[in-house]
Amino acid sequence: EIRLEGVSYAFGSNTVLNQIDLLIPAGTIVALLGPSGCGKSTLLRLLAGLTQPADGTITFGSRLVAKAGWALPPESRDIGMVFQDYALWPHMTVEENVAFPLKMRNVPRAERENRVLQALARVGLGEFAKRKPSGLSGGQQQRVALARAIIAEPRVLLFDEPLSNLDSELRESLCREMASLLRQLGITAVYVTHDRREAEILADRIVHLSAGRVDAIRSVTTSSGELA
Ligand code: ATP
Ligand code: MG
Repeated sequence: EIRLEGVSYAFGSNTVLNQIDLLIPAGTIVALLGPSGCGKSTLLRLLAGLTQPADGTITFGSRLVAKAGWALPPESRDIGMVFQDYALWPHMTVEENVAFPLKMRNVPRAERENRVLQALARVGLGEFAKRKPSGLSGGQQQRVALARAIIAEPRVLLFDEPLSNLDSELRESLCREMASLLRQLGITAVYVTHDRREAEILADRIVHLSAGRVDAIRSVTTSSGELA
């Protein structure tokens, strides 16, 4: 589980997050929804360890990962990240991009190759392993970014508007695919979006942020009619 207690953040005199308390149970997919500028990306950056809170604490399970003025760095957090701009390395092939996190962890080559093929198959890109990102559509590039984020089997996945560069039809189908993949993996995910529809397709819970505060938390009814 992820727990935030009294988390605040400011850019100079501009308080962007104000005493956020939030509990995300393990295996839950949470959408962070709210208008532009309400602090969604800032909150995600805090979860990623890209920045430090001014106040409060963040824990992953029993592990403290951030407190006032201190943050455990991203590479020590067992997380994967997917952002709006896919941020694939243009000079590497699809498989090299996806393999990168394993290479960083010194996973042996043969195991790397197997896991890359598996991850690419999961996102439906088995045939594209040898291509460069520039030879792929936006949706395909975003799938590569997703494969790269899951390859090291992190406990937590963080998304910041990953589909916002795509047209609305593709957005919805990819959103459904991601929802089913995340559930298969049983992963804890925080998904930032300003698109209510995406949030409803994907999430077990929707957290509404407004002006740096948690405004409301709502469970999403699953297709089977149960509360997730
Ligand atoms: P969007 O939906 O547009 O991505 P957001 O909810 O992700 O918005 P944040 O990026 O978290 O919003 O920004 C929250 C507030 O912090 C905004 O008021 C923004 O102007 C301010 N802010 C963000 N980045 C900086 C920065 N580098 N320096 C100063 N202020 C910033
Ligand atoms: Mg943002």
